[in-house]
Amino acid sequence: MSQNTFAASARVLEEIGVGPVWVRRHLAVETAEAEAAATPVAAAPVPAPQRAAQPAARPAPAPAPAPAQDDGLPPWLNEMSDADMAPPGFMPNDDEDDEPVIRINPAIATMDWAKLKETVAECRQCGLCNGRKKTVFGVGDEKAKWLFIGEGPGRNEDMQGEPFVGPAGKLLDNMLVAMGLKRGENAYIANIVKCRPTDEAGKDRPPSAQEVASCLPYLQRQIALIQPTVLVALGKTAALSLLGLDPATPVSKLRGTVHRYQGLPLVVTYHPAYLLRQLGDKSKAWADLCLAMTTYADTTD
Ligand code: SF4
Repeated sequence: MSQNTFAASARVLEEIGVGPVWVRRHLAVETAEAEAAATPVAAAPVPAPQRAAQPAARPAPAPAPAPAQDDGLPPWLNEMSDADMAPPGFMPNDDEDDEPVIRINPAIATMDWAKLKETVAECRQCGLCNGRKKTVFGVGDEKAKWLFIGEGPGRNEDMQGEPFVGPAGKLLDNMLVAMGLKRGENAYIANIVKCRPTDEAGKDRPPSAQEVASCLPYLQRQIALIQPTVLVALGKTAALSLLGLDPATPVSKLRGTVHRYQGLPLVVTYHPAYLLRQLGDKSKAWADLCLAMTTYADTTD
């Protein structure tokens, strides 16, 4: 990173409310004076992000094998047959000895934008349709090079039908500005599930594995239509759903590495709503975005 780039980074850090400025180690060597001015005063220094050192190709995440759900799913779901429980976007293997693999329902895999939007708007493939006000399809440049993926709609998103509105959306918009992006211009924003998950008290909750499996084919089709260069997973649900990892895996273990999803580089960072509660982790999020930008630059060279 040149000193000019560093200066630009300092400015954009201000945009997202991150400060003091984090300095990459090699830059610190080149510009000791700049480092002295920019070293965080926080007790714990932010580790430098690892570049795409281990782009180990991962297979597409296997669909959850429709385990029995007793974690808040609507009662009617437990009354369904095994066949009914199969996520609509996934085609089961014929051979039970095979490892489960994702085969997107051809009906979804061939949809154009208009048909996909229409299908999502009318979708009743999982219990989340019962409580939604609006489906939240996604928003942005349909030819974007950047795709940001969150968890699912919250209360504001459910009412407005758009992802990341309200304070978390404002922070995400600022993060985009810091990266030289803008909602709707070379950036697309989507969620793992298109309908708002709530608990019995009406509060937001993460989607269940079954709900994710039901909805993920829509996102997969969005990815295929957009053909982005880099994916950014915002938060634990997005990261684990895309990578098919154990739910106990913390985001902190996924940061700093470039993962792969459907052959595309995937960088994991914190969800903006989390960052609003944990202001001290904003600098880590900025490090993640720097990794994403480096990955983008390497990919497009
Ligand atoms: S969350 Fe997804 S799969 Fe479930 S009803 Fe909404 S659009 Fe359909």
